[in-house]
Amino acid sequence: MEPASRPDGTPVVVVTGAGSGLGRATAERFARGGWYCLLVGRTPSKLEATAALLDGGPGCSIAALDVADPGAMDEAVRRLVCERGRVDALVANAGINPVRASALETSDEAWRETLRVNLDGVHRSCKAVLPHMIERRHGAIVAVASIAGRTGMAARGAYGPSKAAVVQYVRNLAVDHGHQGIRANSVSPGFVVTDLNRAWLESLPEDALERLVGRHLLGLGAPENVADAVHFLCSDESSWITGVDLPVDGGYLAH
Ligand code: NAP
Repeated sequence: MEPASRPDGTPVVVVTGAGSGLGRATAERFARGGWYCLLVGRTPSKLEATAALLDGGPGCSIAALDVADPGAMDEAVRRLVCERGRVDALVANAGINPVRASALETSDEAWRETLRVNLDGVHRSCKAVLPHMIERRHGAIVAVASIAGRTGMAARGAYGPSKAAVVQYVRNLAVDHGHQGIRANSVSPGFVVTDLNRAWLESLPEDALERLVGRHLLGLGAPENVADAVHFLCSDESSWITGVDLPVDGGYLAH
């Protein structure tokens, strides 16, 4: 690999799923904290809209790709490291929930696609950044899991297992790479209204919505609540935290 032409001290983060929702808020949080961001997602126009919000930060670039495509993340991260000389953090946030159904009612196709994006996508993203982080003996990885991977939840037959697997995947990364200076954690958000769930939440009968909201001791969250926690887990303020899954759920799991 060619060395960066102008390496500087600006920390660099890769945020997947940065074109909307939690990923967009996370990119904004990192930019405010002085990080250079590589924005990854499938839809260029969504990534460009996020980039336009990062104006005050030290800069960003865009990689439009499928996180689960073999080689796609490797190439994007290789280019990033050529340009910036470093990658300090990965936020593996891209995720989908294409069906809300029990495992029995989930088609093979929906099952495979959920696991492909939510689990393979996290794996491929981590594999892309790890060699560069190991070389510098420095790096923080945060994957975005879900309360649906931590507790039983109706009609999450594929999504729940995919997120539970992410929590365990990250815990193992922490064990395998801690001695190389890499920290790996996950967050498990409660419900935050985004493109992922807006239509479904709107379709709920009023009493069901009230019950769902009521399970969050602090009410529903905002994307910024999750972004702040992710930023913390990538910052030096969490330098002795690794291998944890942090619920960012307004108290849902405590209820
Ligand atoms: P969102 O607004 O739908 O964001 C998901 C992002 O991931 C989109 O920008 C999407 O970009 C991108 N993405 C999806 N598949 C991708 C792929 N194969 N390759 C690259 N990018 C891909 O939903 P969100 O709520 O912010 O979700 C972010 C993460 O939080 C997900 O992992 C989700 O499971 C998790 N989460 C969300 C909640 C919640 O209540 N919102 C709760 C717990 C966990 P394109 O549209 O361009 O594909």
